[in-house]
This record gives sequence, structure tokens and C-alpha cells, in this order.
Amino acid sequence: VLGNGSDELIQLILMAMNDGVNIMAPTPGFVMYQHIANSLGLSFSGIPLNEDFSLNVSAMISAIKLDDPAVIFLAYPNNPTANLFDDDDLLAILEATNGLVVIDEAYQPFANKTFLNRAPDFEKLLVMRTVSKLGLAGLRLGFVVGHKSLTDQLEKIRLPYNINVFTQLTAAFAFKHIDVLNAQAAVICEQ
Ligand SMILES: *Cc1c(COP(=O)(O)O)cnc(C)c1O
Repeated sequence: VLGNGSDELIQLILMAMNDGVNIMAPTPGFVMYQHIANSLGLSFSGIPLNEDFSLNVSAMISAIKLDDPAVIFLAYPNNPTANLFDDDDLLAILEATNGLVVIDEAYQPFANKTFLNRAPDFEKLLVMRTVSKLGLAGLRLGFVVGHKSLTDQLEKIRLPYNINVFTQLTAAFAFKHIDVLNAQAAVICEQ
């Protein structure tokens, strides 16, 4: 599913939820998860990271048992702490929850790992990307990948023309020259 930036996708995912559900994410984390959850009248549980910015898995699993979140957002790498969470920690959370897990890979251009190709393995996993941190934040284009049973529901509430023609053409051009953007990200990583 394409979105007008991944912020719109976060909004779509949360708009698809029933009233009164709980949304969860580690803190500090990306601010829009809580902001959009609250603006839609949904409750938000922020679970503090460990001091080294790793996931506090036992705290998250206790909170999952208590709050039964409908969606858990995990930014991978995390924003603003910049680290990648441990794969086994992510898998433990996927295993523990009944809700959806959104792995938000906005900063993937600066990481050497991804869950994108593992999305087919988990029925409740959505993996989200954006061109924003590649250097094209003004284009407003993101996408989320997951099982068809999930993406079909998001398509029902997506506005028909959320991605304008200019963005479509510009993105197609940019992806033809993805090497330039990747080289730019590699320089930033090196620095
Ligand atoms: C920047 C960022 C977003 C939002 O990106 P847009 O595609 O510009 O809306 C989402 N998640 C994380 C973790 C981000 O850092």
C-alpha cells in the first residue's frame, strides 16, 4: 500500500483499528505513533527502552499481556536513538502479541539490515518504508508491505488518489537513479 509519506500509512493503520484499542511502542521513539493514536482517540502505551537503547523485552511482554495492544510500532533503526533492535527481541514480541507489529524502516538507507523480505513469513507483520530519509522527504512517498489480508483492509480506507501524478513520475525517475541516492547515504554513514 502506498502512502503520502509513511506518516499517512501510520494514520491509515490506526484508522483501521476498532475504537478503544491500545497502541504500543518503545520510548523514546518516533513521535507520530503516539500523536496519531491520541488524535484518533486511541490509548497509547510507551514502554521505556533499556539504558543502552535496546528493547526491554520483559517489560514489553508484560505490557502486551496487560494492555493487549492492537498495534505495536517498532522503528528499525529506531528514531531518535539510531540503533537497530536485536532480531531475536523483535521475534519475541511478534510471538507474544495478538496484534499487528509494524516494523518501520524509515531509516533503512542507513542500516545494513531489513525485515522486508521476511514480511511473508508472519501474518501479523507489516514492514514500512519511505523515500524521505533517502533524501526525498518533500516527495511524500512511503509504502507498507504485508499479507494481502492486511493490505486489503488498508486499501479500503486509503483515499483513491493519495499519491499524486507528480510524485509517481518523480519517484519512478528517482528509482532509476537509486545508485545516486544510495551513494549519498553511504557517504553519510561513513562520516
Ligand atoms: C521520518 C520518519 C517517518 C515519517 O516519514 P515520512 O515518510 O516522511 O512521513 C516515519 N517513521 C520514522 C521512524 C521516521 O523516522
